[in-house]
Amino acid sequence: MWGRYPAARRRLLMLSLSRTLNQKSWRWKSGPANERALQYKIGEQIHGFTVNQVTAVPELFLTAVKLSHESTGAKYLHVAREDSNNLFSVQFRTTPLDSTGVPHILEHTVLCGSQKYPCRDPFFKMLNRSLSTFMNAFTASDYTLYPFSTQNPKDFQNLLSVYLDAAFFPCLRQLDFWQEGWRLEHENPTDPQTPLVFKGIVFNEMKGAFTDNERLFSQHLQNKLLPDHTYAVISGGDPLSIPDLTWEQLKQFHATHYHPSNARFFTYGNFPLEQHLKQIHEEALTKFHRIEPNTAIPVQQLWDKPREHHVKCGSDSFAADPTKQTTISVSFLLTDITDTFETFTLNLLSSLLVGGPNSPFYKALLEANLGTDFSPDVGFNGCTQEAYFSVGLQGIAEKDIETVKQITARTIDEVIEKGFEEERIEALLHKIEIQMKHQSTSFGLALTSYIASCWNHEGDPVELLKIASKVTQFRQHLKENPTFLQEKVKQYFKDNPHRLTLSMSPDESYYEKQAKLEAEKLKQKVNVLSEEEKKQTYEKGLELIALQSKPQDTSCLPALKVSDIEPTIPFTELEMAFAADEIPVQYCSQPTNGMVYFRAVSSLNTLPEELKPYVPLFCSVITKMGCGALGYREQAQQMELKTGGMSVSPHIIPDDSHLDAYEQGVLFSSLCLDRNLPDMMHLWSEIFNNPHFEEEEHFRVLVKMTAQELSNGIPDSGHLYASVRASKTLTPAGELQEMFNGMDQVKLIKRIAEMSDIKPVLRKLPRIKKYLLNSDNMRCSVNATPQQISQASKEVENFLKGITRSKKERKPVRPHVIEKSPVSVPVGRERLNCSQITRKLITEPTFKPCQMKTHFLLPFPVNYVGECIRTVPYTASDYASLRILARLMTAKFLHREIREKGGAYGGGATLSQSGIFTFYSYRDPNSISTFSTFEKAAEWAQSGEFAQQDIDEAKLAVFSAVDAPIAPSDKGMNHFLNGITDEMKQRHREQLFAVSCDHLIDVANKYLAGGKSTRGLAVLGPENPHIAKDPSWVKR
Ligand SMILES: [Zn+2]
Repeated sequence: MWGRYPAARRRLLMLSLSRTLNQKSWRWKSGPANERALQYKIGEQIHGFTVNQVTAVPELFLTAVKLSHESTGAKYLHVAREDSNNLFSVQFRTTPLDSTGVPHILEHTVLCGSQKYPCRDPFFKMLNRSLSTFMNAFTASDYTLYPFSTQNPKDFQNLLSVYLDAAFFPCLRQLDFWQEGWRLEHENPTDPQTPLVFKGIVFNEMKGAFTDNERLFSQHLQNKLLPDHTYAVISGGDPLSIPDLTWEQLKQFHATHYHPSNARFFTYGNFPLEQHLKQIHEEALTKFHRIEPNTAIPVQQLWDKPREHHVKCGSDSFAADPTKQTTISVSFLLTDITDTFETFTLNLLSSLLVGGPNSPFYKALLEANLGTDFSPDVGFNGCTQEAYFSVGLQGIAEKDIETVKQITARTIDEVIEKGFEEERIEALLHKIEIQMKHQSTSFGLALTSYIASCWNHEGDPVELLKIASKVTQFRQHLKENPTFLQEKVKQYFKDNPHRLTLSMSPDESYYEKQAKLEAEKLKQKVNVLSEEEKKQTYEKGLELIALQSKPQDTSCLPALKVSDIEPTIPFTELEMAFAADEIPVQYCSQPTNGMVYFRAVSSLNTLPEELKPYVPLFCSVITKMGCGALGYREQAQQMELKTGGMSVSPHIIPDDSHLDAYEQGVLFSSLCLDRNLPDMMHLWSEIFNNPHFEEEEHFRVLVKMTAQELSNGIPDSGHLYASVRASKTLTPAGELQEMFNGMDQVKLIKRIAEMSDIKPVLRKLPRIKKYLLNSDNMRCSVNATPQQISQASKEVENFLKGITRSKKERKPVRPHVIEKSPVSVPVGRERLNCSQITRKLITEPTFKPCQMKTHFLLPFPVNYVGECIRTVPYTASDYASLRILARLMTAKFLHREIREKGGAYGGGATLSQSGIFTFYSYRDPNSISTFSTFEKAAEWAQSGEFAQQDIDEAKLAVFSAVDAPIAPSDKGMNHFLNGITDEMKQRHREQLFAVSCDHLIDVANKYLAGGKSTRGLAVLGPENPHIAKDPSWVKR
């Protein structure tokens, strides 16, 4: 994988706490893990390491232990915390000076086999031999990171062993380099008459990556703002430069960069540190001596005057107005990110400048009606050695470039003059408080990405964790000097000559030109080949296929066994009550650390059909238009001051036992600190009772932003759009899915965004409100600490009593509605009475699934392919078999055929909760042949050519998803949202354990064999001569 962390960029201190190990302790305590860590003495020697520093960080409930390895100089940070989801990562500073993608190809290739684990692709194999909660690898601009997490101690040791051996002792075979990086190969490798073409996973991955215009812009921005050293090149690889990389260069890069002296180790969680140190020391570090890595990046020379650049991109195929597709931003180089307090301040300052409708740049730029949304990377960027701030617009006319520049300069002047409202600063500090308290299940991963950049440049990662002291220091500065922030704006923005204006506009023939350049590159490479070399190229192609197809012995790899999986799950205790007479409320007491989570679901059953397509738009604007006495700006301010967020989204839930039944509604979600619950519920009341729909211009801004986000998201989520489309005609819910979440929705929003008169759409919103924002068909849920539950129930009661209830029962629009109430079942010693939650489901007794094939023509050089098959619902016993089968087919067949041989970035099979079996591929150079691969996969499954070991591995992989940790805020949600009880989950679990080889062959025959089930196909991608000729395809 390549790219910066979405989590680490643009967001402010995105830290959230993980769940506690001991579910019975309602308050955070420094448990045994912290106490153990606090015992370490400075200077203490442990397995070749020396303890340098031990620091308690009470606001995050953790203790940080900093160490260094004596003989190699490797750096180590351990964060002890009462969290069972333990994480390991190793990070190398990788600072390439060309765009061949060497760090990225290396990141892929080291995972292809190592000295101790010489089998092919141990990394992917371990996905099936472990109960990991996360495994991946990332190439950033200046470092490469290998993290994994797991809750199982044995698994931790296994994975650590594989990761260490991969990073420090990889095989780096030439064939691995060809497969992962690039190679010349005949289009059809077995036919030397077909032309030679470029192939390779990273080569295709990067071609796909730059179909995302936002990514392309970000890349240019960094390259041009920091042009002196490694930031001037593309660490992931430029598809036109990748073929210049040699195998020798790859090995050389590994020798100089993947060395302990250039490494930073990080461990997190409640497992003991000594065991980690021992294993890392013995299995890796003892085999090295210290070197001088010379990977540091020199300080960027500051410019004496601002610079400007203009670049080209592909055009947005959904924009009706191609004259308004220009992006422009103005960016300022800030400060060294190792200065943690200055960085903290500038990060806050950036949020004040661009965050939310009250920020000066939102008002000045977004509301100027020039563009569709902020430019990519708006705000603070702290992933490079020197941070930068960027602001601008996308979706503007080229002639407006000057205007945007002028507005930007004027806004900076105004901020210097007027400063910020105190309330906005308070709202931001409140946000930090929430982020410190809210617990996620991936805190270790959040930490490692949070500290990676700063640590990479010798900054102090422990300093970075002391957030509370930074807040205090910040308040102090502000108290002593009320113009503190204005002065920073003057220093870093007004008086800063290191400023870049970057603009990007589409070129109709951009992809054509790229393809031509690639063809020229190919010609260069092919023309210099002698006859002998051509013959070798052909033979090596065959050799690679032979290797990829060879059955593999993976017995060298460590593995957990199916018997290591917990046979039963702990049940979550839920309480049910009625509020305001008959509205069911689910209460779940959890150690939420002083936070309350309130959710509600309201039914769509009475909504007239013609309003339905506008529901997603309604959801995305309803909390942003103003309510009661509050205008939209004041509402945003109140939400930031009092809550951690309030959002609304469409909700389509398949029934667990009938494919032709589903629930349709919208979901309201919100969170706040205990003390702010009355304020948050008051905001909900106002949104339900008195929402505003008057501000037409503001509505237009919101619509344009939504439209821009949707079309920017296609290159990343193309396979999901393909799958949603492919399942459209298979179940009654499928059509609604496509309407709400598919390409139909993308196109609708795009059309609305381009309307000259948006009023007719705006007028639909109060009509939708009438059907949705009332308590007629509602249910609620609260997750909070036990001490807070009774207070919360009062607030919920008040809220429900205060919102409208229709006087007479409204009739559902569709006649077929069934009421469904889960039966109450004994749970442990207690009897949970869950039967009060009645869900009204839509059924279509006359529904007939039918086949449909759709091609969405997009100007991308790669395809996204989806094929869906209607199977069985969640509670059917075949469901468990199909779930295991999907995993088995992915690991043992599809990964090899689609990724390794086919050169796509990814591909596989999944089974959704709605009983749709989906084959997919991602950033795929092929399309039609991928469908035949799906067919072969089904034949392979029917033949039953897999061993018990393969089935067990698929089970482990499925269980690592089934048993993924759940945060206190989300406990009980499967029951509340989907109607899936713990008993049903336990039954499903038992069915999963029971799946045998015969079951797998049986379901493969029953559902996947050609002609057996109804299926849908969809492709998103470029012109396709084969599809064009075939009348059975719908072209869109
Ligand atoms: Zn990659």
